[in-house]
Amino acid sequence: MSEFPAGSVWLVGAGPGDPDLLTRKAERLIGQADVIFHDALVGPGVLALAPSGARLVHVGKRSGRHSKDQRAIDALIVEAALQGRRVVRLKGGDPAIFGRATEELDACRAAGVAVSICPGVTAASAAAASLGASLTLRGLARKLTFVTAHARSGETLDLDWRLLADPHATLAVYMGKAAAATVSRGLMDAGLAGDTPVALVENASLPSELQFHTRLDLLPLAARSLLGEGPALLLIGQAVGPSEPTLKADRKAVQA
Ligand code: SAH
Repeated sequence: MSEFPAGSVWLVGAGPGDPDLLTRKAERLIGQADVIFHDALVGPGVLALAPSGARLVHVGKRSGRHSKDQRAIDALIVEAALQGRRVVRLKGGDPAIFGRATEELDACRAAGVAVSICPGVTAASAAAASLGASLTLRGLARKLTFVTAHARSGETLDLDWRLLADPHATLAVYMGKAAAATVSRGLMDAGLAGDTPVALVENASLPSELQFHTRLDLLPLAARSLLGEGPALLLIGQAVGPSEPTLKADRKAVQA
């Protein structure tokens, strides 16, 4: 049976923006699509790979909009598939990470529409690559946590700071720009040191990429004053410091 029969849906990871970070499979699926529903995070370089006959539909949600938008997207995808189209639902990064994939999978399955996932490079991996850093570090960062700092509109951020304030972990905070002050305060109140390294990467993998190194106690100021309008990832922990811990120790010694 073909990889992409008429009337089926693929949730395709578009990666962080650079089309060179698409998987070969993603590119092949995009090339076969009749209709492509994409969000705001999918870069123009990726959309340019769509075949000329394909219909491109922007279903972008930026935070703050109501969740019925998601139901409307689910319905659009299902309807196109039931009309016999090959449907690509193109999502930034990896579809299975903070991508509302479950709603779309459930909607397709409930309608009897075949649906599959093609993974993508998630923002944390792209940000680490841009920084030239590893997200894990033998002995120092044995755990990697992906967390979203996005609260539903009107709700306060409800994260278990004690669990997250682990000095031997790397924390990748998605959708964390607006909540940077809350994240910084929550982690420090739970015991994480104010000088814990933080890296901020905006528009990772795109020509407009920005990256900054700061520390946990300065994170609110850095996020407020340095970041622009693009999607940004906060990486927190020893592994993402500006240099090897041994070099940092040397530098401190030199300063002292
Ligand atoms: N499914 C996506 C995440 C969607 S949530 C993935 O796997 O990457 C949206 C958040 O992802 C943004 O608020 C931002 O924190 C992060 N993000 C997505 N693309 C990014 C990029 N190019 N650079 C930095 N952060 C990005």
